[in-house]
Parts: sequence; C-alpha cells; structure tokens
Amino acid sequence: MWIKQLMELLGEEKVLISEAVKERLSKDYYWYSPVLYQQLKEKRADCAVQSESIDEVRKIVAFAVKNRVPITVRGAGTGNYGQAIPLEGGIVLDVTKLDHIIEIREATAHVQAGVKLGVLEKNLRQQGKELRIYPSTYMKATVGGFLCGGSGGIGSIRWGNLWDGNIQSITVMTIEEEPQLLTVSGEEMETYIHNYGTTGIVVEATLFIEPKTDWAQYIVSFDEFQKAVEFSDALAHNEAIIKRLVSVCEWPIPSHFPGLKKFLQDGKSIVMLEIDERAEEKLEQLAKEYHGEITFKIPVENYQKGLKLSDFTWNHATLWAHKHGENITYLQARFDKNRIFEQMNAIRMKYGFEVQFHFEFIKIKGEITPASLPVLIYQSEDRLNEIINYFESVGVQINNPHTYLLGFGGYNLRMKEIENMKKKNDPFNLLNPGKIPSNKEIVQ
Ligand code: FAD
Repeated sequence: MWIKQLMELLGEEKVLISEAVKERLSKDYYWYSPVLYQQLKEKRADCAVQSESIDEVRKIVAFAVKNRVPITVRGAGTGNYGQAIPLEGGIVLDVTKLDHIIEIREATAHVQAGVKLGVLEKNLRQQGKELRIYPSTYMKATVGGFLCGGSGGIGSIRWGNLWDGNIQSITVMTIEEEPQLLTVSGEEMETYIHNYGTTGIVVEATLFIEPKTDWAQYIVSFDEFQKAVEFSDALAHNEAIIKRLVSVCEWPIPSHFPGLKKFLQDGKSIVMLEIDERAEEKLEQLAKEYHGEITFKIPVENYQKGLKLSDFTWNHATLWAHKHGENITYLQARFDKNRIFEQMNAIRMKYGFEVQFHFEFIKIKGEITPASLPVLIYQSEDRLNEIINYFESVGVQINNPHTYLLGFGGYNLRMKEIENMKKKNDPFNLLNPGKIPSNKEIVQ
C-alpha cells in the first residue's frame, strides 16, 4: 500500500497514521455550519505529514503524483467552510512548519506560507511596521491559509480584502511528477486567492505592509441598533479618522461575549473599533452626534496584548454565539447600502430575533461596504434555505457559508480561470479534489 512506500521515502515517524491525529488534522471549523457538519463529519485523510522544507514538499508531491494519491494542504485549519477537509482521503499536508520569515523590506514582507499572521504582525510591529489586513484568527492562521481560504478582516476598512492589491506575489508548487515552482503576481494571483488550495501549493508569499499606527480600541454603546449602524457608516466614510476595525453587533449578540461582559450594558448594541488614538476627540464628537457613548477603551500600550476587541469581531462573534447555543449558525450577506434599513426591517418583521444583525464595515474596490455576518438560530436546512431565499428576495446578496464547493459561496471568483489553472498545474486532479464542482465526485 502507498502509505508504507511513503514511510520508506520520508521515514516512518514522519507519516502520521494515528486515528486521533488523522481526525484532528483532517478537520477545520466546518461545524460552524450544521449542513456541512452532516456532509463532512466522516471525511478524513489516510495519513498526515508535517512538512519542514520546500524540498520535502516537492518529494511528497512527486510521490503523490506517481501513485495518484490526493493531497490536501493544511495551514492552521481555522477555515469554516470545510475547505481543508479531504473529501477523498490521501495525504493531509500540514505546512505550519514552513514558518520562515524570509525578508522584511520597507513596503513588503516575504514569508513562507506556514508563517502565522500573528507572529508576522508582532515581528513587523517591533520594526515599526504592520500588516495591511488579517483575519480575526490571526494568532493561529497562516499566511497561505488566509490567501487560499480567507477574504479579509482587520484592516479591510482601510485596505479592502485579498483581491484589492494587498499581495505582491505568490510562489506556488505545481502537482506534477516533476513539480515546478511558479511565482505569480498581478491578476494571475486571482486563480490562487480563496481557491481552497486547489490549483497549487502556496510555498511563499510577499505581502504589502505599512508603517505602524498606534491603535487604541474602543467600544461605543447605543440604545438603538440603527443608530449604531448609522454611526459606523459615518465613521467609515470619515477620512479624518484613521481606523483598522469597525465592527457592529446588535444586542443580544454581545451578551455572548464572556470576556467583555463587565464592560457591556444589557440591551445595548455595540460598535467595536480600532482607531488611531490621535483621533479620539473626533470619535467622541461623532459618537455623541449619533447618541452613542464610549463605554470602554483599551489603550495603545495594550494593543494586541491580553484582551483584544478583534477577538469578538468577524467570525469570532459567531463563535461566541455558538458557544452559548449550539444551534446558532450564520450567513454572509451583502446589504444594499442605500436600502440597508428597509432590508433589515423586512427581515426583522419576517423572522424576529431568529436572525440577529452583525456588520463589518470594509472597503471593496474603494467603496465603503457594510459586509454582514448575521447570526441565526438554526432549525433545519429547509428553514435555512428559506431564510437565504428571503434575504435574496429583498435584495440582500448571500455568500453562502453552508457549502464546501468553490464558487457556490459567492465572492465572484473567476471560476473558469481557476478551473483552467487547475488543469494546467494539477493535471491528475489530486489537489483537494472535490472542491471544484466540475471535478467533484458526489459527496453524501
Ligand atoms: P486553513 O483553514 O488551514 O486552510 C484554508 C484553505 O486554504 C484550505 O482549503 C486549505 O487546503 C488551503 N491552504 C492552506 N494553506 C495552503 C497553502 N500553503 N497552499 C495551498 N492551499 C493552502 N476569515 C477571514 O477571511 N477573515 C476573518 O476575519 C475570519 N475570522 C474567522 C474567525 C473564526 C473564529 C473562524 C473559525 C474563522 C475565521 N475566518 C476568517 C476563516 C479563517 O480563519 C481564515 O480564513 C484563515 O485565514 C485561514 O487560515 P488557516 O491557516 O487556518 O487556513
């Protein structure tokens, strides 16, 4: 059997076959979705390898191609669409030990794919620099995992998401008997970004970085959720206030945030912010205008130390809500910024607090956009689909997080180009097979 041959090639201890390890390294946060949980809970690799060098990755790829064994690449496994779950067994290739920061220059950081974003950010801040964008999971998530499985996060209010020119280049390995290393930049990177690692193994990336800002963190509390959203929109558009995070949660979502409990007031919706501290006065004035009140501040010197507001934003808000009630899941939605309150009212009238609102203000292609991750109480797949259809019927676009199929979750991916790149770089369809619909075997 091929596992024995792989052990001969790499050394027995390198090929991990214990059931517990295979299960752990085959799973990500797919259980965010009760639908994905049912579809993917039995899926698992035949073995896992934690690669320590690019040469070793090359050896494994050449072996896999020769023996027609599937490979699924894994970073920290924090993706929440089951992206990193192998559908057809084979090898899980954990790249977290490819963790070398190769070079930090004035405006770029060149790193191996397994570098944790938290480690990179810390390193950069010590040198007076910072990342442009990172997910709220940055303490664990890897550069390669973010590029291939993520979209945006902290910083996206200023710099947009992964498609907005924040990456200079990516180096990928092809899945051929003689693997090649290709370095791509510009538009070609779109066949690698958020592609669930289906067109090549990212081994290195160069990210654009910025001079560091002294960020203070604030919670602004509101009696009315609509005022919280209006305030956030005004703040997002206010060029005089430099910000890294504008995250809005409707009550009762904040009631599930244990670490913040003593700083929150019952019934109040909150906006969580990272702001250039020099703009504090302007922030206070703006908050007042919208009947909000700054109720908590984490000073600059405690930035990214201990309690961090980003731990309650983006999909962390869903995580805390889910911890409170296991039947809680979420959607990814794009409201029409000109009809946002009309759309929210229609949804509230129809579903009451079965759907609770959460927005992350970001900039997409230069335009301020309220991206939404509404939390919802899950009853059944039929009910979930009914809610999705209703959102769409009132003009809210859904990026469905309840599918592992690439291209079905939204994000306007260039699927034709991704499919063509896959045929070129992975001619035997061995890399994370089943995630691109046209290559998919039926998964039940
Ligand atoms: P993994 O989950 O390991 O992998 C993600 C995908 O990329 C998989 O398909 C995997 O096969 C592939 N892959 C990984 N490494 C490579 C590589 N080197 N080469 C090729 N393919 C590779 N996402 C956001 O965008 N923004 C957020 O703010 C955010 N917040 C989150 C909060 C929580 C609590 C959770 C659970 C998830 C959140 N996510 C968010 C999703 C996820 O954490 C991020 O996208 C993260 O960057 C994924 O990194 P990872 O190293 O864990 O990748």
